[in-house]
Amino acid sequence: MTDIRRLIPRTDAVLADPDFTAPLTKFGRARVKAAVNEAQRLAREGVITPDDVPAAALAALAGTGPRRVVNATGVLLHTNLGRAPLPAAAVEALAVAAGTTDVELDLATGRRGRRGRTALAALAAAVPGAGAVHLVNNNAAALVLAATAFAGGKEIVISRGEMVEIGDGFRLPDLLVSTGARLREVGTTNRTSVDDYAAAIGPETGFVLKVHPSNYRIEGFAGTPGIAELAGVCREAGLPLVADAGSGLLRPEPLLPDEPDAATWLKEGADLVTASGDKLLGGPQCGLLLGRADLVERLRRHPLARALRVDKLTLAALEATLTALTAGGHPVADALHADPVRLRRRARALAARLTDAGIPASAVDSEARVGGGSAPGVTLASAAVALDEALAGPLREGDPAVLGRVEHGRCLLDLRTVAETGDDELFAVVVAACR
Ligand SMILES: *Cc1c(COP(=O)(O)O)cnc(C)c1O
Repeated sequence: MTDIRRLIPRTDAVLADPDFTAPLTKFGRARVKAAVNEAQRLAREGVITPDDVPAAALAALAGTGPRRVVNATGVLLHTNLGRAPLPAAAVEALAVAAGTTDVELDLATGRRGRRGRTALAALAAAVPGAGAVHLVNNNAAALVLAATAFAGGKEIVISRGEMVEIGDGFRLPDLLVSTGARLREVGTTNRTSVDDYAAAIGPETGFVLKVHPSNYRIEGFAGTPGIAELAGVCREAGLPLVADAGSGLLRPEPLLPDEPDAATWLKEGADLVTASGDKLLGGPQCGLLLGRADLVERLRRHPLARALRVDKLTLAALEATLTALTAGGHPVADALHADPVRLRRRARALAARLTDAGIPASAVDSEARVGGGSAPGVTLASAAVALDEALAGPLREGDPAVLGRVEHGRCLLDLRTVAETGDDELFAVVVAACR
């Protein structure tokens, strides 16, 4: 015991090491000293060796803040990795928005301006069929706001086939009921008819809710009325039809024919469409509310809207994301549309480089997915580099971390979710992981 204590490097000696110069500047002396002291304590207890004290302290300091992860899972929208990676233009906009900006100021007149007006205008321009648009913190918040404003103390008519759990124990029905609205369930799990809706509508109804069951599919004897049919019933009853599209497509995407999009649903008669900003739209986390101007205005004016409002960072990132959707440089769209032939070529080249470096690797065909609770059952032809399964752990702990997919005893690095410019880095990280 005494021997070990004597071998533990002294705090001053550790802090004088040039490796600690940058951390001292970044974190300040007190914080770095605390990390060293903690590492010394671990050494005293025999958890680490005395020699490892500096490295342990540096590792603890490096472990602060989010760590970059290369998404090589082939899942485009990986919930555990923060869903959509933002376009570079959105990252630039975030840097500007981080300072003081004109988020609520009209620079031409010097007067207060509508908060986030350029972002809202960009969204409105992207969905011309929407009479007005509003933004909240996520799609769940959009539904809470609609339920509170239009069905507080009243009923929301919803099909039993659309009472979905979105993930991580988050259930849409529970969320809706938490606002004080009551659910009027209609139909059955597999089938609901337009007459079921019509029969349930009455003086207690606040609105009719259509939910796109994003993350699962019922096949076989199943069916629910489409937006156009429901819109007819709602129009007759003078009630709003609110439609939760989930994935955030603004226009039809030929590769995902079963995913709803805001433009089509509005054209078919939905009064209000809600969607997420960080799924297929590929932007920051936010909730989109698009539709009839009078309804959007009521939502905007509701007291709860203030509690759900998005910050300036979100507004800036969303606006740049919408521009990138048409201008290019949009990671989610790029990954979705990547050419499988090109992906295979990249996989072969990377596997060959690794093999040359003495690392067993092969190029294999793979199936990528949209993920993030979107487009269940859709697979996208892709290509991957197959490595020894034992590399999955070291890759995950690398810098940057690389998350692959372990399948049939191999670790697959699917290139559909890796930007083409990321292949060199991937090569370097795999080489480092093998050491
Ligand atoms: C993902 C999803 C939600 C939740 O959206 P968040 O933006 O994560 O709050 C709600 N409804 C549907 C249909 C979804 O797919």
